[in-house]
Amino acid sequence: MLSLSPEQELLVSSLEELAEREFAEKAFTWDGEPPWENVELLADRGFLGVNFPEEYGGEGMTESDAMLTIEAVGRICPDTAEYLYNQQMVAPRTIEMLATEAAKERYLPPVIDGEGSVAIGISEPEAGSDVAAMNTTVEEVDGELYVDGEKTWVSNVEHSRAVLVWARFPEGLGSVIVEFDWDGVEIQHHYENMAGHHQTHFVMEEVHVPAENVVTRGGDGFKRQLQALNWERLGSATLANAIGRCALEKAVEYAGDRRQFDRPIGEFQGIEWKLADAVTRLEAARSLTHRAAIRANEGGQPPGRMDAAMAKLYASETVERVVSEALQVHGANGYQRGHPLEYLYRAARGRRLAAGTDEIQRNQIAAALKRNGLPTLG
Ligand SMILES: Cc1cc2nc3c(=O)[nH]c(=O)nc-3n(C[C@H](O)[C@H](O)[C@H](O)COP(=O)(O)OP(=O)(O)OC[C@H]3O[C@@H](n4cnc5c(N)ncnc54)[C@H](O)[C@@H]3O)c2cc1C
Repeated sequence: MLSLSPEQELLVSSLEELAEREFAEKAFTWDGEPPWENVELLADRGFLGVNFPEEYGGEGMTESDAMLTIEAVGRICPDTAEYLYNQQMVAPRTIEMLATEAAKERYLPPVIDGEGSVAIGISEPEAGSDVAAMNTTVEEVDGELYVDGEKTWVSNVEHSRAVLVWARFPEGLGSVIVEFDWDGVEIQHHYENMAGHHQTHFVMEEVHVPAENVVTRGGDGFKRQLQALNWERLGSATLANAIGRCALEKAVEYAGDRRQFDRPIGEFQGIEWKLADAVTRLEAARSLTHRAAIRANEGGQPPGRMDAAMAKLYASETVERVVSEALQVHGANGYQRGHPLEYLYRAARGRRLAAGTDEIQRNQIAAALKRNGLPTLG
């Protein structure tokens, strides 16, 4: 159990109440579309972008608080939680940390109002885990910057105004913000992932980028970019934990209701142990995830590489297992197309791939272990 401040308890209970009342009925029906009416309500009530500074419309809260909002909403409606994750922990988070003031003023308020998001374009057809192999370049011609390249597997493009593009400058890897309606940007196609969410492949040909849209370039820019990505990893872990919690709540309820052999199936030790294992793993995943965020917030730094990778890895593997066992508790009913468990199972699987695969997290942990040794006991 986490120990929450009175303010955090209020944040969680207010969101849970709102989600139960407003989001529960349509949960598991969104099928790849963002839950716009929920987004609008969250924005109206000041629950979208809580971790951004007040000057851009946020609430000035911490990332730990933002993660609690994802969990509180996600146990009722995972699609709404996914929207919160993308807005609070991914590209807009990096923009707030590293972009110019002009870019922050242009891109952050619409994110927090729920009116326009910013996607993240890292993956390319030939560069997935191996980010350093990317072919997208930023060239400087007569003092002006131009981007060329292609990105794939990009999420949230249909409702984003812009995308944070990772690219190669003459000095090395960095990043720029590109708007989708600029000359030279062409969406090639949208496709669906296993969860029904839309992914996008787009190309950029001699796209002019104003200097204020450079987010990182040269020096330790790319290192800081990778550090900002650690928030995405903790966000992804949080979303996994929320999906797991949602599935587990349904399994506990079903185990109490469903009767076989003249008793609720939840009275069989075989089912009790599944639930016991699931809640243990889930709470361990939540502890790793929140601990990493609390340490980062307290230290005023992005999460450490090892902390973020351990949380991401453990939460991603845990959610797959928890949802699978929750589906098992539901028997054949959970295996029906359109059943919440089927929906959650498809969503859960993506967590082991998105924001860096399990294997890459293990590589990160192993590299940090070699470099820094075991974590201190403190
Ligand atoms: C739901 C979802 C949403 C996504 N959204 C975005 C997005 O918004 N923006 C974006 O840019 N990308 C996005 N991605 C892409 C994601 O970042 C990539 O899938 C991920 O980085 C892995 O790249 P890849 O799929 O090309 O796999 P590859 O890198 O080709 O890897 C294939 C397999 O080999 C393993 N592997 C690769 N290298 C190593 C190694 N060194 N050691 C051990 N194993 C290794 C991998 O772990 C994997 O199992 C999304 C993916 C998913 C599933």
